[in-house]
Amino acid sequence: MPIRKSAMVPKQVSSQNSTGSAAVERWIRPEIRRLDPYHVPDAGDLVKLDAMENPYSWPDSLVDAWLDVLRDVSFNRYPDPTAHKLKQRLCETFAIPGTMEVLLGNGSDELIQLILLAVSAPGRVVLAPEPTFSMYRLITATAGMEYVGVPLRDDFSLDADAMIEAIKVYQPAVVFLSYPNNPSGNLFDAGIMQMIIEASPGLVVVDEAYHAFSNATFVTRLEDHQNLLVLRTLSKMGLAGLRLGLLAGAPQWLGELNKIRLPYNINILVQVSAEFALGHQQIFDKQTGQICRDRDALLQVLHSLDGVSVFPSQANFILFRVPAGLATEIFESIKSRDVLIKNMHPVGGLLKDCLRVTIGKPDENLAFIEALKAALE
Ligand SMILES: *Cc1c(COP(=O)(O)O)cnc(C)c1O
Repeated sequence: MPIRKSAMVPKQVSSQNSTGSAAVERWIRPEIRRLDPYHVPDAGDLVKLDAMENPYSWPDSLVDAWLDVLRDVSFNRYPDPTAHKLKQRLCETFAIPGTMEVLLGNGSDELIQLILLAVSAPGRVVLAPEPTFSMYRLITATAGMEYVGVPLRDDFSLDADAMIEAIKVYQPAVVFLSYPNNPSGNLFDAGIMQMIIEASPGLVVVDEAYHAFSNATFVTRLEDHQNLLVLRTLSKMGLAGLRLGLLAGAPQWLGELNKIRLPYNINILVQVSAEFALGHQQIFDKQTGQICRDRDALLQVLHSLDGVSVFPSQANFILFRVPAGLATEIFESIKSRDVLIKNMHPVGGLLKDCLRVTIGKPDENLAFIEALKAALE
């Protein structure tokens, strides 16, 4: 005997007002209604130095070879659900120990979501130093958990005592450590990170989105810590449009996470294109090497400017502080000179008076410096 669902629908949400705001308020969870959407400004024709992208494209010969590969793709078929060949290639490229399992995501953002959905339960806590990558907080809220941010020290280094104390008090299901940290650009002290891993009752995710620019990694420590997971992405090294992230860790954890991964989350275009691109790793190495040299040059120029204080960076961006109260004005002035960077000042806290610039091509970096100098005058 089928249940007559219509008989159970309360009067106030009749079909007439089910699209109205009352219905939205009734059904969309309050923690989601309270969120601000992830905002990506339209760069238009501006020099785009706001999103940690690699500014370089591929040589024509490489583009031709890639298009040849695409010609043979069977779009009528579902892709390999495990992306077996691509996984193998990534494990070689990233030197993932053979005893570890890996999971691929539609960007590393999807993997962050997967981890948090898997551990989500009311009252559970996700913990990270503050400020850090904003998606940790956003996805924690959508997964229905509490987020605890532990302030970094004034120089954006980890406050070991505060972190260990907070881990004791909150018993977080997951701790996120961005290594290097976005938006500050520095590498945290590896010894303190190790203490955090050892003090944590749950997972510790070391997010190495900027690994290509830092060469520091916790991948080599995966076998020492059962609760450690390492995140990588192809986005910052030069394939942001592709959307491919990788999570590495112990098979016991990843086997569970794999159960809630949607089948075919890595589409055929991504599988084929990423495999092709990783077969030409030397091009990305050359580009990221150039970006690192240009970063170091830009750091020096910024150091020499009166009124600007610069934070060290092991990533493809630089955080700097301008005279008190002027950040938004300086950001807008730089924009009026056709260069788009990121204004971190509205975030507040340690990011007060701070701006963040992504390393571009040498002429783009020069345009930025000229615009900044003009704005400071
Ligand atoms: C950019 C960024 C990511 C997101 O990478 P996608 O793979 O493009 O989703 C993850 N973590 C940090 C710290 C980032 O800065």
